[in-house]
Amino acid sequence: MTFPASCKLVRILLLALLLVPGLAHSDGASIAWLEAPSAESDVEDIRALPEAQWRTTPGDETLNFGFSDSSFWLRVEVPAQPFNRLLEIGYPLLDDVRVYWFVGDEEVERHVTGDRQVFDSRPIHHRNFVFLVPSNNETATAYIRVHSEGSVQIPVRVIASADFLAGEQLDFGWQALFLGIMIAMALYNLFVFVIVRHLAYLWYVLTVTASALVLLNFNGLVFQWLWPDLPVMNRYFTAPAISANIFFAAMFTLSFLAVRRYSPVSYRLLQMIVAISVGCFVYGLFGSYQTSVAIISVLAAIITPLTWILGLVVWFRGQVLAGFYVVAWTPLLLGHMVMAVSKIGLIPTNTLTEIAPQIGVALEVILLSFALAYRISLERQRRLEAQEHTLEVQRQANQNLEARVQARTEELEAAYEKLKAVSITDGLTQVANRRRFDEKLEIEWNRALRHGHPLGLVLLDIDHFKRVNDEFGHLAGDDCLVSVARVCAGEIQRSGDLLARYGGEEFCVLLPATPEAGAISVAERLRAAVAGTPVDVGEHVSPVNLSVSAGVAIMVPGPGMAPSDLVSRADEALYAAKAAGRNRVMVFRESGARAIADS
Ligand code: GH3
Ligand code: MG
Ligand code: MG
Repeated sequence: MTFPASCKLVRILLLALLLVPGLAHSDGASIAWLEAPSAESDVEDIRALPEAQWRTTPGDETLNFGFSDSSFWLRVEVPAQPFNRLLEIGYPLLDDVRVYWFVGDEEVERHVTGDRQVFDSRPIHHRNFVFLVPSNNETATAYIRVHSEGSVQIPVRVIASADFLAGEQLDFGWQALFLGIMIAMALYNLFVFVIVRHLAYLWYVLTVTASALVLLNFNGLVFQWLWPDLPVMNRYFTAPAISANIFFAAMFTLSFLAVRRYSPVSYRLLQMIVAISVGCFVYGLFGSYQTSVAIISVLAAIITPLTWILGLVVWFRGQVLAGFYVVAWTPLLLGHMVMAVSKIGLIPTNTLTEIAPQIGVALEVILLSFALAYRISLERQRRLEAQEHTLEVQRQANQNLEARVQARTEELEAAYEKLKAVSITDGLTQVANRRRFDEKLEIEWNRALRHGHPLGLVLLDIDHFKRVNDEFGHLAGDDCLVSVARVCAGEIQRSGDLLARYGGEEFCVLLPATPEAGAISVAERLRAAVAGTPVDVGEHVSPVNLSVSAGVAIMVPGPGMAPSDLVSRADEALYAAKAAGRNRVMVFRESGARAIADS
């Protein structure tokens, strides 16, 4: 959209606002104006000009010449009235304002003022230029010369002093309310910033402060309140203050909406705005006043709607806070546009155009403050969610860990059990090994000692096993050992009994709570079973007939006895069985081993 086209749009948008009649009225006074033929023309030169040079203007319309280097003269004729009246020029930023009062042909008063003169140069201390009409019973004529480097708007009105006073109540009340809102919002958010430490709050505070100063400056109050004796400040204030306002607002937008995350293009645009505002700030201080004010007015008119659109973009990209931002920015947008456009002379100024930015800023400031408060709740919610998430992750991790630990524990337990089993099992024959036998002997010995039970032990030794090895080889010998173990295991029925490989080709059977007769019968059964089970040692070799000799010992453990006694007794009986010709069972007796046939 071209600039004039966008201005046209602005005009249409603002039509509704402009339909509201301005408060300026001439109260019977007639106003005429002309552009001074030369800068040096004095009041007498102007008075001498022919009547045809003067142009009239409807009493309720503000004279607005935009940016102009010319001097403008106004002639305000105030007819006699039986009450005091005031003449007000309602635009306080005019650089040079001279008022020459004439009654008849006589100059009765002269005032030289403007915002390049100390505040005391004004006959009435007021933010605007206000002059008492010097006569009530004759027509008084004011010749007013205005020259200004800024926007030349001359809203003139003549008003009864009493009405002016009444209107002033409202107007000043509004200014105070506006300032109060700004101070409250700035202070509150400054406190929030101190606590929350998020830069968005600081930028907000600075934006609010700059906005307040800019608007109060337009209303002449900054000069009146802050530096009434330093009019030179006015020349360096307007453009830099607006630049700073734009700068802070852009920084606030960047920070508050986290623009970079949502829209890189908007981010770059805002960065550009930041850079431009810095440039304008510097130029406002050192460059031409007129150019800087003109540039900054145009910029404000472009940047305000642009920022509003950026807010929309970021909003649609999912930034919830941008909703508040857009809503807050809308009245400000309208207000700023009304003001900016009126300042460059595209639309006439009236009370509403003057007050619109203030209403807009006040609403914006309040809505954004709400948004900033909402941001805190949003952050808290996000933090809670993040915490919740972290907890959930932790819970999950713990569960996984527990499951893994459980699985590992089970694996370890299984491995341990396996190792334990391996450690007590004979690798070749898969019956208990010597270690297991020693443990079990110890346990059963003690048990028998406690209960006074007899404990039986059978020791078996394969007969002439060396021969088997010699004849069929070691592997065949191993097969025979496995076979004997299996045969013996098949004969051991009681669960408490333990068959173990005692070493080499010797086996033993521990028989808890077994009397002699029982032990002998087990031994005999084993012997018979081995003798009756020939072992296959190869395809082309006939099965090997094996036999075992067995020694049996029974003891009821008592004091002074040891488990090894039982073993040596069984060994003694075994030795006797070997000596007696093998393949037999002998039982130990104190008097000497006996063959079972003898017992
Ligand atoms: P006997 O007991 O009847 O007096 O005669 P023997 O030939 O069995 O004599 P001895 O007890 O002295 O010899 C045992 C032999 O058993 C010695 C060894 O060659 C054999 N032997 C011991 N352990 C193993 C084994 O694990 N595998 C095999 N193949 N042979 C073994
Ligand atoms: Mg032996
Ligand atoms: Mg042997």
